[in-house]
This record gives sequence, structure tokens and C-alpha cells, in this order.
Amino acid sequence: MKLGTYTFQPEKVKGFDFHVLRVKPETGVRLTPAQDMYSNIAVFADNVAVRNHPDWISQSPLGPAKMGNNKFNIYWDIVCATQPEHRSEELNYIAEVDAHSKGVWLNSQYFADQGHCTCPRCKELYARSGLDWFEWRRREVTDYISQVRDRVKEELVLCIQPDPVNSLERYGVDFDDFAKYADKFCVVMFSKNYATPWYWEMLAQGFKKLLKKPFYIAFYVFGPGDNAKEVPTTQELLTVSVRCARAGAEGFLYLTEGASQIRDFQKAAIAQTQLIEKLRTYGGQPVQEYLDHIASWKKMT
Ligand SMILES: [Zn+2]
Repeated sequence: MKLGTYTFQPEKVKGFDFHVLRVKPETGVRLTPAQDMYSNIAVFADNVAVRNHPDWISQSPLGPAKMGNNKFNIYWDIVCATQPEHRSEELNYIAEVDAHSKGVWLNSQYFADQGHCTCPRCKELYARSGLDWFEWRRREVTDYISQVRDRVKEELVLCIQPDPVNSLERYGVDFDDFAKYADKFCVVMFSKNYATPWYWEMLAQGFKKLLKKPFYIAFYVFGPGDNAKEVPTTQELLTVSVRCARAGAEGFLYLTEGASQIRDFQKAAIAQTQLIEKLRTYGGQPVQEYLDHIASWKKMT
């Protein structure tokens, strides 16, 4: 049971097994990687690339993959997944970042969503392929991941959306294809609350059944610009972690803007003595390991 931090700032926090730095989040803003941290890169979600090249945006019958298009769950501007210059630039960038960190965790390394992309280039590539639409998209995504694998010498973790059923139809993502190239998966389960842990546990069980490589789960603790009233409670985070631990996750990442919110989470977690006692009764070895890890934070304060 491994625990990691997932932050927008390059400061490590004691009490975790590993640290993932968001060197290029979906905003497209780039940070310098840290040699002793993993680097997280959003590949096609990239506001800067779309600002500089508006014609690169992914298209669909329900409009472009642009922030504000509420027909999709799209919070960023997303580049078409076959855009050759972006693909090539990102491959070089990924290799460069990999050389200066412990490895790379990718997200947004697939099509924007259902129906994407119908730009003129994609229409032509699809027509020339002679393949079924979903199969063509899958090939485009998988071929790109194989190119990424050739460039990444350290650990490669592929982040996926928390949708175990429709990933192929929505994103062109085939989990078995990804498992050939990924060292591990990370299922991004971000939410502003985890009030119904049963649903998250069910998702974790679904991924345990489907994924042929170990997987982490990323939980949302405190994002940039949040206030304390709109983020998950410590009780929810501990409970959902325990429920997903017993469902077979390899470990968890906790997303915050920086180190201070992670420390706040650690302090709040060890103060939950009654809840932790109750959570001890939830299951076997992975649950006990998780709670032992939380208990170890007491020594640091
Ligand atoms: Zn396209």
C-alpha cells in the first residue's frame, strides 16, 4: 500500500512513499521537473497550445472541445489527438521531462470525448483507414502510446478517467492496449465530495477486474483556488480510501495545490481517532496497511 502526493508545486512532504508533480497541467503552463519526483503531463488538454493554434482544437458534431461547451465534461481546451505537430512536440517534451524526473504520469493522452474528433484531418485519416470508427480511434491512441513508451526510460503511468465501461467509445482507450505499455495505471477519481463511498468502491472493484496492471487511485483534497467549505472532508477521504483499499487499489494519491494543504490533511487525518478505529473493522491486510500508514504520520508531528 503506497501513498503519494499529487501537487502543483515542487515541494515534497514527509510521510509519503512518492511524489507526483504536475509539471504540465491542462492549463498548458510548464514547470521545471524535479529529479526526485514523478512528473505529470496533460498531453492533449492544453489551453496554451489551443490559444496559440486555435485550429488545433478537437472537433465533434456537438461542437469543439472547448472550455464552456457544456455538452461534454470538458474543463479545458483540448487539442485534436491526431494533430501531428502537437504529437511530435509532446513526445520530445515527455522524453525531456522523463530524463529529469523519476518517470512520467500522463493524463489526457486520448481523444477528448465521444464523437471526437471530426476535424478535416481526422475525417480523412478515418476514411483512409478503412476501419470502424471506434477501432480507428483506438489505433490512433494506442499507436501514440507505443511511441511514448519508446521515449520513456523511467516509469510510465497512464492515468485514466473513472469510467470502466465506455472508455473505448468515449476516449479511444482500450485498457488491454494500455496495459502493454504502462507500468501502472492511475484512476483519477476527483470529486468535491466522497459522501457516498459505496459508489467509489464499486468503481475500484470494476477497475480491479478490468486492468491487467496495478492501479493507483487519485483523490481530490484541495485544489488551486478552493476554499475549505467546498472540498471533501477528512472523514470522507479516509473512508473512501479504506473502501478502495479493500477493493484492490495499489495505493492512493492525494491532490492538493501544494505542500501546506497536504500537511493539513495529515494533521486532520491523525486526529480522527474514533473513525480510524471504526475503519479498522472494514477489512483485511490492505485496509490495515493503509491505516498503519496514516498512524505513522503521528510520529512526524
Ligand atoms: Zn482531429
